[in-house]
Amino acid sequence: MTNLQKAKRGKTMRCKRALPLVFLGSLALGALAQSGAAPEKKAAHAAVKSASAGDTTVAQPKSFDLGAMDKTVDPCDDFYQYSCGNWRKNNPIPSDQSRWGRFNELAEYNRQILHQILEKASVNDPKRSPVMQKVGDMYGSCMDETAVNAKGAAPLKPVLKRIAAIKTKAQLVSTIAYLHSLGVPALFGFGAQPDLHNASTLIANVGQGGLGLPDRDYYLATDAKSQETRQKYVEHISKMFVLLGDTPEAAKTEAQAIMALETKLAEATTERVKMRDPKNRDHKMAVTELTALAPNFQFASFFAARGGPSFTEVNVVPPDFFQKVNPLIDSVSLADWKTYLRWHAVRGAAPLLSQPFVEENFNFQGKYLNGAKELQARWKRCVQLTDGALGEALGQPYVQETFGPEGKQRMLRMVNALEEALGDDIQSLDWMTPETKKQAAAKLQAISNKIGYPDQWRDYSTVVIKRGDLLGDAQRARAFEVKRNLNKIGQPLDKKEWGMTPPTVNAYYNPPENNINFPAGILQPPFFDKNADDAVNFGGIGVVIGHELTHGFDDQGSKYSGDGNLKNWWTEADRQEFDKRTTCVADEYGSFIAVDDVHLNGRLTLGENTADNGGIHIALMALHKAAAKDASINQTKEGFTAEQRFFIGFAQVWCENHTPETARLLAKTDPHSPGQYRVIGTVENNPDFAKAFNCKPGSKMISANACHVW
Ligand SMILES: [Zn+2]
Repeated sequence: MTNLQKAKRGKTMRCKRALPLVFLGSLALGALAQSGAAPEKKAAHAAVKSASAGDTTVAQPKSFDLGAMDKTVDPCDDFYQYSCGNWRKNNPIPSDQSRWGRFNELAEYNRQILHQILEKASVNDPKRSPVMQKVGDMYGSCMDETAVNAKGAAPLKPVLKRIAAIKTKAQLVSTIAYLHSLGVPALFGFGAQPDLHNASTLIANVGQGGLGLPDRDYYLATDAKSQETRQKYVEHISKMFVLLGDTPEAAKTEAQAIMALETKLAEATTERVKMRDPKNRDHKMAVTELTALAPNFQFASFFAARGGPSFTEVNVVPPDFFQKVNPLIDSVSLADWKTYLRWHAVRGAAPLLSQPFVEENFNFQGKYLNGAKELQARWKRCVQLTDGALGEALGQPYVQETFGPEGKQRMLRMVNALEEALGDDIQSLDWMTPETKKQAAAKLQAISNKIGYPDQWRDYSTVVIKRGDLLGDAQRARAFEVKRNLNKIGQPLDKKEWGMTPPTVNAYYNPPENNINFPAGILQPPFFDKNADDAVNFGGIGVVIGHELTHGFDDQGSKYSGDGNLKNWWTEADRQEFDKRTTCVADEYGSFIAVDDVHLNGRLTLGENTADNGGIHIALMALHKAAAKDASINQTKEGFTAEQRFFIGFAQVWCENHTPETARLLAKTDPHSPGQYRVIGTVENNPDFAKAFNCKPGSKMISANACHVW
């Protein structure tokens, strides 16, 4: 992710560094950049014929959509095709997308609402509220393409000048600090995170980073595709430097130097799967120890240059990275370091510069890495930029227009029902001893929830938004967030803060906060439909709630106690049994093929798959309990029993198409399985599914080796 994309996605990306929030889906990306290490979404609906989704209208998605189904298929043979076959056929990927599913449909629908709000807010009217003025001017800066194009790369000049002026290694360090303050993620990450052993307080955290490709394996794998990607990356860097005014020869040499340097960083980087284990992110030490470990980083000067609160302890994630990179600070020439910083500065800014930069960025990130055919319409990129940069300002008119109190009440009832079901589930587990059950129940009891939007909105009054200064606006908004985060070092954890903006179509569990969070953006069809019956809603948002709750008990969450601290609450025998059961899940999903010969990584996706399986199990328990009190829930409707509607409602949340490029990228980087396997992988483990659809023994949707954790 580039810094500006991060700005768009708000603070959620930052949290990924050391203590990932656990999302429902690999969602809502894209934005101005279409560039990230992650995929894109949005765009047109089936009804829209145009290749470009830019000016088309996306209808509000439907829950329990009979028209989406392919009834020529036996549900026991391929439940995904049965539930989603026609949707997939009728909803090809719009040309400006690399992935198109129900999430995207809803995200695009939300984006249209934001678009209307911003078009109105961008009109220079003295009666605008300060909030509307801020978001309107940011959007207005972004939409003024003529002005942006006329400036070329000029808005980036101050940053490039600063890099060009570096003459010593000490200045290299202070310039990295300066770039970090603007959100440019050069070389490593730095910020505040909850202390793993005292989650109520935030401490300083430094983390590995600094790569331009989506994962370390892109630099190190020897297969033909990876070699091709590296060659394309070098060409891409080269073209960007030519756009900045370098000769093609010089640009080529510079690009190769960057590839050489980033390859060394990749070699020092710990694999994604290992980073899932909290113990590999748990390295608190004195600042003096860090300085001794990696003296060339000159951390004392770096921290001073950043200007945040002072501190004596820091979590280092992982120490290995800093130890291995330390000699490079000296052995790599200053000229190459400057080239590296220049690359990361332009890489992050490209989506906000003139058209040639935007296009070159899209050609590599959007087209080559993700398989999108066409750049998104400018308004879409500008809406997403504003949401990422000033999300809790733009979120205010959004919730006013879309989120009513009745939605919150029904949602609260469902959360309660799901929590009760998980409690019952824990007590009924035949593989867990009473001792561990007691601890699990206590953790569940401590989980809190947030629904819709923050109680208190973030105050952006100090962020200067100057109409006509797009890059400057984005940098100042980003700098505000970076500073806000930095100032939390030594401060108490604020559990009321949100890690996603209100219009976001996603949800998350936060391990140190031990809470589940559902932005207003996801509380709509196909997830949550106030006109649909309980069976459908329990299959939609009910499973999502169950999924987030189960994250508290997956391979990562299970290592945290109810107070958010990294603490073992398991007996050894129970932990062994848990590991055996999660290994079953890892093996199951590891056998699924994402694209060509690329399998899903069962260990990378283990937490999400565990959450999916637990989520559907407890959501169905909650539905049964509700039906025991209200027999009308069990009525057959539209030819389907309540349980059938539950499973179809669940599956239809995951109808999607994606490009082969995106399937490959996600298989290597995304902890979530693709929709197809989120459906098949869970139902084949679930005996209630086989019963609901009368599947005969030996059916494809019945696993001979069904896995069961929660
Ligand atoms: Zn999740």
